[in-house]
Amino acid sequence: LPSQLVAAKPILDRINAAGFAAYFVGGCVRDMILGESLHDVDIASSAYPEEIKAIFDRTVDTGIQHGTVMVLDHGEGYEITTFRTESTYTDFRRPDSVTFVRSLEEDLKRRDFTINAFALDADGSVIDLFDGLGDLEKKQIRAVGKPNERFTEDALRMMRALRFASKLNFSIEEGTLEALKELSPNLKKIAVERIQVEFEKLLMGQAASQSLLTMVEVGLLPYFPGQKGMVIDQHLLLLANWLEKKQPKTLLEVWTLYLGTGGFNPDELQTELRAWKLSREIMATVTRLSKAIEKRNDLSTWDLYQINDLADTFLAVIEMMGVDFSLIEDIKKRLNALSIRSGKDIVVNGGQLIQSGIATPGPGLGKLLHEIEQAIVCGELSNTKEAIFDFAKEH
Ligand code: ATP
Ligand code: MG
Repeated sequence: LPSQLVAAKPILDRINAAGFAAYFVGGCVRDMILGESLHDVDIASSAYPEEIKAIFDRTVDTGIQHGTVMVLDHGEGYEITTFRTESTYTDFRRPDSVTFVRSLEEDLKRRDFTINAFALDADGSVIDLFDGLGDLEKKQIRAVGKPNERFTEDALRMMRALRFASKLNFSIEEGTLEALKELSPNLKKIAVERIQVEFEKLLMGQAASQSLLTMVEVGLLPYFPGQKGMVIDQHLLLLANWLEKKQPKTLLEVWTLYLGTGGFNPDELQTELRAWKLSREIMATVTRLSKAIEKRNDLSTWDLYQINDLADTFLAVIEMMGVDFSLIEDIKKRLNALSIRSGKDIVVNGGQLIQSGIATPGPGLGKLLHEIEQAIVCGELSNTKEAIFDFAKEH
């Protein structure tokens, strides 16, 4: 067993000792079988939330209405979710109600894909009710049960199918793919934030290029947030090409690559960023970097200075775009050679200029400081007190 599961096994043992069933479920079992590293350990149990809370001393109600309680143990938190079914999805989004059940089988049946529907008991035996092992062997994503029903219940599962195909470099089983083609319009019912999370993981996966093309093929793209101004087909093919060689590693890289390389005008770009409901940090980063990306062959020292805090993301993205190695090396050299990294590195500040009687408070001071900054960055002024005071007196 992987070390995280060994560490969590006493939790299963304690639930078992209290007379309830408990299993490791979901992604951690899939990743264990694949020999991949696991990030979160999820546990499912026949015990109801109140029963779990009675077994353990330290618990937190993280999602009690869905049946999830977090148990704190040796500095770790484990989410324990009561076996449940989800009934009547009237809005293609969220189940109307979750019903707690005592049967593992019912709980596994509600899961999206066969490779996500394993359970592992405290003895280390894998429970595989839907031939997920066969699908791992065939390297394919297959819905649990009838794909049409499963995608109708929750349209986000279509994005998840592509996300796991990308992450694992798997294909999508034929029946599951057919259902994707048929039901793709239902994606418009899904909240942007949920699409965003799956799409980010899709683009970071090893088979991002293939998944992106499949996304286009099954017709999901028209139901994506934004894209009003996007030259969809051309830009997507270009992206797919880039992604074949290398995939983004951070969210900033994901969004800079996806939206910052599309040649949007500033208004279109803002519309896209807002439509995707991205964080302020991502919006600001993509906005700044998209300009530098457009000018990448022709960046002044001042341009480089203005993005030097985002240099890692910038370099990663233009590298993915297949920009000439020599140009990248040159940009790196020039970034390293910048005389200052930010205004804070200037040895004289506004207060000192006022105190020395060279400047007075007001908008003129801001302008002067900006000129000093520009002159230092462009190598016309050295960053020393004497030189800056002289420069300030002249201006
Ligand atoms: P990751 O390693 O990326 O976290 P994961 O398989 O753990 O992958 P999660 O999104 O964390 O994926 O979900 C945990 C488990 O919950 C899944 O393995 C799956 O069994 C189930 N699940 C999650 N979302 C859905 C959904 N929309 N429909 C059905 N089952 C789902
Ligand atoms: Mg998970």
